[in-house]
Amino acid sequence: MSFSRILDRSIIELPRLIDVKLDAFPDIPENCDRLGLDENVSLLTGETTYKIAGKSVEQVLEDSGRNVSVYHVKEATLEESERIQEFYKDTSCEFSVAVGGGRVIDAAKYSSFEFKIPFVSVPTIASHDGIASARSSLRGLGYKTSYPAQSPLLVVGDIRTLSQSPQRFTVSGCADVISNKTAILDWELSNRITGEHISAYASSLAEISALSMIKARKEIAKDRVKGAYHVFKGLITSSMAMCIEGSSRPASGAEHLIAHSLEQRLETIALHGELVGAMSIFSMYLHGGDWKEIKATLEVLGAPTSATQLGIEDRVLIEAILSAQSIRPERYTILSSGVTEKAVVRALTDTGLI
Ligand SMILES: [Zn+2]
Repeated sequence: MSFSRILDRSIIELPRLIDVKLDAFPDIPENCDRLGLDENVSLLTGETTYKIAGKSVEQVLEDSGRNVSVYHVKEATLEESERIQEFYKDTSCEFSVAVGGGRVIDAAKYSSFEFKIPFVSVPTIASHDGIASARSSLRGLGYKTSYPAQSPLLVVGDIRTLSQSPQRFTVSGCADVISNKTAILDWELSNRITGEHISAYASSLAEISALSMIKARKEIAKDRVKGAYHVFKGLITSSMAMCIEGSSRPASGAEHLIAHSLEQRLETIALHGELVGAMSIFSMYLHGGDWKEIKATLEVLGAPTSATQLGIEDRVLIEAILSAQSIRPERYTILSSGVTEKAVVRALTDTGLI
């Protein structure tokens, strides 16, 4: 973003309340009261997440005298968002609460934004840093694209629920935050080469969240409750950096472009955070930085550090890297000046990714 565009921007959208504690559900009604969220609420959830957490949230909201209508989100697509908005209309919905994973949160974030009602986010997994950001990842023309949406007014981090989710999700969220390290290097590179404005505040915040994950890696690997707490806080901090910048720039560089390139090629693959974490090793190698630190951290966490562990064929990975920059040419990264296949293979081999 150029500095003149920065001066044109007048809005920084952030969540109003973030409630992080072991048992955060009982306080949802009181927090909704504080935010003036009353009466008719649409609770968006998934089949499994309804049983795990959605039902409890429905109960506390009903006990507070609110009318709760439950909608089971099937997919995060534009078509599903149309159905959700119909549901909002039919139930005279005044605000929406999303209880679930990325699919449910993304669908609710976008649908509530389009329908112009406030939105409360209750994630059941801590798997990526879109938790509090103002963008939504939806499947449009066969592949995922990022759409403008809104930040949640309230984010509920119920550590008990998050700590009981499969550890793979928490580790993936942690890896997503760690990848900020290379996203920031790409941003700094762009600042030097293209003159793109860099926000010291947003980049510092993104970097602090990555460093805090590296510092807490052993605890995250061993202690489910402490781990969920650390990762949730890291994801929120990373989300904040994106909110302040008004784009994903502080937390998304070449490692994310490669992940998107892989996501477009394959139907079922590794989790987002697993992909960007491993690709951060590759990017850090090209930047000439300490890629071994990222790799060692991911190993402690039990996150994938090779194409085989990610379930990707070497050739697919190489092709995904070579075409990654074309997904978003305007986002300057270490790949923008062009990398040869020979250089990619060398980097992947030296880092043990293939
Ligand atoms: Zn990410």
